[in-house]
Parts: sequence; structure tokens; C-alpha cells
Amino acid sequence: MTKVFYDKDLDQAVLNGKKIAIIGYGSQGHAHAQNLRESGYEVIIGLRKGKSFDQAQEDGFEVKAVADAVKDADVTMILLPDEHQAKVYNESIKDNMKPNSALAFAHGFNIHFSQIVPREDVDVFLVAPKGPGHLVRRTYQEEAGVPALYGIYQDVTGNATQVAMAYAGGIGAGRAGILQTTFQEETETDLFGEQAVLCGGMTSLVKAGFETLTDAGYQPEVAYFECLHELKLIVDLMYEGGLENMRYSISDTAQWGDFVSGPRVVNDDTKARMKEILTEIQDGSFAKDWVLENQAGRPRYNAINNQEYNHPITQVGKDLRELMPFVGEAVKK
Ligand code: NDP
Ligand code: MG
Ligand code: MG
Repeated sequence: MTKVFYDKDLDQAVLNGKKIAIIGYGSQGHAHAQNLRESGYEVIIGLRKGKSFDQAQEDGFEVKAVADAVKDADVTMILLPDEHQAKVYNESIKDNMKPNSALAFAHGFNIHFSQIVPREDVDVFLVAPKGPGHLVRRTYQEEAGVPALYGIYQDVTGNATQVAMAYAGGIGAGRAGILQTTFQEETETDLFGEQAVLCGGMTSLVKAGFETLTDAGYQPEVAYFECLHELKLIVDLMYEGGLENMRYSISDTAQWGDFVSGPRVVNDDTKARMKEILTEIQDGSFAKDWVLENQAGRPRYNAINNQEYNHPITQVGKDLRELMPFVGEAVKK
């Protein structure tokens, strides 16, 4: 089995007295910043003026313009949306970093697909939590954590690995497990996972199930509970104890249906499509398409986003969740 590192394996002291600049204060940014601060490290936030700038100040951080935050930093972690990172790097980060400091990422996209070409006199590493930012924060507060991958692209100081691992420990990942990876492996597996399984696969599966039931005349509320709401309860059992734990808890009738019907929904044809998706990630065509979509002002992204928002599952879900006050939203709006 590959080596998995935990808090006891890390040298947290390598970050003592170091300044960590967190660039961006969104989903990952607020979580890294707050967790690192509570782990005892010195954190400063780099941002443009705006909503997150005010929020970070309200949360008690020193907040500066990106260029100023980077100037004194020993570690600069870029937690901006992937599509804005190259511009901000070129305009405000590149010429302001200290030699021998470290440039860090939570996803390998910009380095792997050469959108950012880092300076040669800095360390470059990634610490990629395998979970949404709001859960990186929430699990830390619960004395738990989200697992993370770390990878080194450039090691000029000889300390990049230790610093990356200490950073991962500082955000709480050492409680859940830290694994070594490369920028290539992290980028390709992360894109594949979110497209084929976690986000794209899941939303399409949920919608197809909801539509099949409502098209057949069943109540949308029943279809919502069946195909979306209950998913969390099933996934929690998988998270806690794998597929076997989920199957142990469900009825034998459900388990028999799982065995005979599941492979008819997700079959060899689905796997062939997954392989196609993986190939487009590996050969760079997905990345190219996404970069061009952004350059064009996101016409397809916005159109699909609008269409998805108007799907009947959205409205029925809103109505039902209002009646279930215990269903909290991890992502505060
Ligand atoms: P967000 O979309 O949540 O980041 C938004 C933040 O970036 C806000 O603080 C926003 O400030 C700021 N920002 C946006 N554009 C600019 C700009 N042009 N100049 C300065 N600041 C800007 O990002 P995520 O947290 O989702 O992603 C950050 C990184 O983490 C990405 O590399 C992503 O792949 C990776 N990642 C994300 C995960 C997640 O859970 N979301 C999971 C694992 C990795 P303002 O309020 O001013 O707009
Ligand atoms: Mg991911
Ligand atoms: Mg991702």
C-alpha cells in the first residue's frame, strides 16, 4: 500500500515563524487561512478590493493587495479560481515573490497545462484537499480533517517536501491522511473525478432518475426525496464503511436491485465514455476548451448554468428544504 502520512509523521516546526500569504478568500481560501491560523501559523491574505476582502478583514485577518501580501511571504498559496490565476500571477505575484520562497497551489491545472510558468528561483508545490473548501473548514473545527495530496514541481531550497507536508498538516489533512502525488496525477485524476463521478456523473444520474419518475407521472416531491435527498444518507454509509457498509444497512431487496439493475445503468458503454473523457483530459483538449471558453466570456457556461438552474428539480428542492430547517447549507450565501 502507498505510504499515507499522518500528523505524527510531519515536522510542523518547519513553518514556525514563516509568513503564509493566502491569495483569495473563497471556498478553499477561507478554510486554509482559518485552519492555518488556528494551527498556530502567521497568515496574511492577498486580495483585490471587494466582498472577500471585507469578509477576510471581518474574520480578523490582515488583508493587503496581492502584490503587497506576496512581498514578505515565505509561502504564497494561490487560491483564486483556476481561470484567473495566470493573469494575477503575471501581474501581481511573479515579480514580487522573495527568492527561495514557495509558490503553492491547491490544484495542478495552471502548472500542468503551462498557463503559469513559475520563476526558477522558488519552490513550487501543491497541497490539494480531496474535498470542498467548506468541509475543509468544518471538519477541522470538528477535530477531524479532509485528506490531501501533496506534490512537488520544483525544489530549489531542498525543503519543498517538508514545507508542503507541514502546510497539509496545518490545514488539518494530517488527521485524515496525506499522500504524495505529482502535478500530472493530481490534475488528471481531479478533473476526471469531478467530471465523470463526483459532480458531472452524479448530477446527471440524479436528474435522469428524477426525470424518469416525474415523466411517468410520480410527484416531483417524492422523486426529489428518492433521487437527491436520500443520496446523502446512502453516501454517508459509503463514506463511513465503503460499499459493503452501505449494502449491509439497506434491505436485501435493495441490494438485489443494486446487483441486477445498477450495471444496466452504468455499463460498458458508460465506461467507454469515461475513457473518452479521461483521454480528453490527458491530451489537453478539455483544458484548451475551458481556457477558450473563458476568453470568449463564457457563453456556453452561462447558457448551460441558466438552463440547469431552471430545471424543475431546483424549485421543488428549494420548497422542500425550506420545510426542513435541520438541513443546513454548508455553503453560506
Ligand atoms: P473560489 O471561486 O471560491 O475563489 C474565489 C476567491 O478568489 C474570492 O476571494 C475572489 O474574490 C477571488 N478572486 C476571484 N477572481 C479574482 C481576481 N481576478 N483577482 C483577485 N481575486 C480574485 O475558488 P476555489 O476555492 O473554488 O478554488 C481555489 C483553488 O482551489 C483552485 O485552484 C481550485 O481548483 C482548487 N480547489 C478547489 C476546491 C473547492 O472546494 N472549491 C477543491 C480542491 C481544490 P472576490 O470576492 O473579490 O471575487
Ligand atoms: Mg477535487
Ligand atoms: Mg477540481
